[in-house]
Amino acid sequence: MTKAVIFDLDGTLYDKKGLARRLIISQIPYMGVGLLSSEREARKILRGKEFPDGEAFYREFFRTIGRGRDIPRVPKWYNDYYMSSMVRILTRHYNAYPWVERTIFTLKTKGIKVALLSDYGKVEEKLFALGLSPDLFDGGIFAAPDLGGLKPCPSPFLKVASSMGVAPGETVFVGDREDTDGDGARAAGMIFIPANGDTPPEIPL
Ligand SMILES: [Mg+2]
Repeated sequence: MTKAVIFDLDGTLYDKKGLARRLIISQIPYMGVGLLSSEREARKILRGKEFPDGEAFYREFFRTIGRGRDIPRVPKWYNDYYMSSMVRILTRHYNAYPWVERTIFTLKTKGIKVALLSDYGKVEEKLFALGLSPDLFDGGIFAAPDLGGLKPCPSPFLKVASSMGVAPGETVFVGDREDTDGDGARAAGMIFIPANGDTPPEIPL
């Protein structure tokens, strides 16, 4: 029986079509287009690797973006320009799918806890940008890097379930990516349900 549902954010709660292109264009004034491609590459390299905490993850992440060197401009670019651009672009051009609020309310009336697990930071700001209240997620809002590493590393999945006080086997994970959301959820012993675009996911109750 399902006691909790964890949602991924990007590509799951909204249609992220065109986001990558808009992000590239947004980084031109900051001379950040090269950094953006290094950031994509660093995410691939660190995908699924486990870290003791968020600080350790970000240290290695920024060093990987800097191709093995600590470059002070990298964390500044990432936090001040890149993540802020993402929030601004979401505010201007994107909205959550209409099913999101309805589905979460239905889950809540059945006493099911709802949480969110993203591979990116600034999760609350991104939810507001999409027109969603972070309060919808009574089980909490989490960034995987702060909980031990990027998906499909199972430890963030397990930590979210444990913080809600539910067993992984009673937890459903809804996400748009098989290789990160799917593999991570299954490795953590959860049920994975693929996101369905603007059609509500079929969550077993
Ligand atoms: Mg996603």
